[in-house]
Amino acid sequence: MKVLVVGSGGREHAICWKVAQSPLVSQLYAAPGNPGMAELAECVPWDGNVRGLAEWALQEGIELTLVGPEGPLVEGIADAFLEKGLKIFGPTQQAAMIEGSKAFAKGLMTRFGIPTAKHRSFSDVLDALAYLEAVGAPIVVKDSGLAAGKGVTVATSLQQAKQAVTNILSGPERAEIVIEEFLSGSEVTVLAVTDGVTIKPLLPSQDHKRLLDGDTGPMTGGMGAICPYPLAPGLMTEIVERVLKPLVDGLRAEGIVYKGVIYAGLMLTDDGPKVLEFNARFGDPECQAILPLLETDLVELALAVVEGRLHELEIRWRAQASACVVMAAPGYPDDPHKGLPLSLPQLPPEQVLYFQAGTRRGPQGLVTNGGRVLSVVGLGRDLREALERAYAGVGAVRFEHALYRRDIGRKVI
Ligand code: AMP
Repeated sequence: MKVLVVGSGGREHAICWKVAQSPLVSQLYAAPGNPGMAELAECVPWDGNVRGLAEWALQEGIELTLVGPEGPLVEGIADAFLEKGLKIFGPTQQAAMIEGSKAFAKGLMTRFGIPTAKHRSFSDVLDALAYLEAVGAPIVVKDSGLAAGKGVTVATSLQQAKQAVTNILSGPERAEIVIEEFLSGSEVTVLAVTDGVTIKPLLPSQDHKRLLDGDTGPMTGGMGAICPYPLAPGLMTEIVERVLKPLVDGLRAEGIVYKGVIYAGLMLTDDGPKVLEFNARFGDPECQAILPLLETDLVELALAVVEGRLHELEIRWRAQASACVVMAAPGYPDDPHKGLPLSLPQLPPEQVLYFQAGTRRGPQGLVTNGGRVLSVVGLGRDLREALERAYAGVGAVRFEHALYRRDIGRKVI
């Protein structure tokens, strides 16, 4: 089969790496891809136009497309491909609204009885500020639209919350915010694949959203992940029954058949799991930690989803643990330095994988070209060994002034 992977980050490099192992694949393409993906796939330049890419895929005879990032999904890439009769692993524009609008997602959760933080949505600054005065801090302010994981302020003071509200709602575009109750507990990511009827959860994982050790510093797209996260017995079943099933069944009852990956970001509170957010795709960096443990062929899995036969497929896992450490460019997340040299070892250390993200090939070799530059994944018998290997992998990279957390997985250990 001719297979296309859409995107250019660490997540998409991991997807390419896994897809390239499938005996079903004869030719692999990436749009637009990155230097790491170029070692596995033919990279095709892409300006982000979803209809143009669907046209190209039709001409080229692409038989399956897997979409990494949320942007094209929210733009309607799945609709554009489906209209041309092309198979695509990823939800339609309407279904991707579970991520495209936090206000929409909150509405669904309320309608379907999915446990989540209490909330209100606002588009008027004065109304929002008056509400903040009434409820006080700590409180969470979220940009309703896509913000690459950086549109959330967990405000410890009223002052900070008001600042966040003003920043978002005074922007030039018509904006909407969600203000929600602060939840405390452990965070976990549960990804599941669904064909709109059957739901199969993947291994639970945990992201690290803050830039600095000890969960301090600004929010980022994610600085590292571990998998599997040790959920208490019975909790995965509870999450499927109380969160994923009501979402997929509720959407279907409203005429939306969701096909692809559902990402549930959850807080494990004293009152049980509560949803922090839904995303319409694999998490980055969770994907880089999860896919190396997946034994099942990802192409077979994607086809089962697309063709509505997920009930037939058994998802198998390697009995290992993995840890992913993200190396970012100095200045991330506000102003990452581009053009800084980095180099990877010729031969990766044992059980280490490098997935590239914000890199570019310059005349002298690889240079930084974005915020999150590299995901370094270690595999081991247990989390401790996986972490040792991931950090050995980090040590083997030449990348001066790289930002990375030294405490990935420490809370769980
Ligand atoms: P989100 O993009 O909505 O998942 O938010 C990003 C991060 O903000 C989450 O991973 C949490 O660390 C934090 N967060 C979001 N909502 C809440 C909440 N209601 N209470 C506490 N922390 C939150």
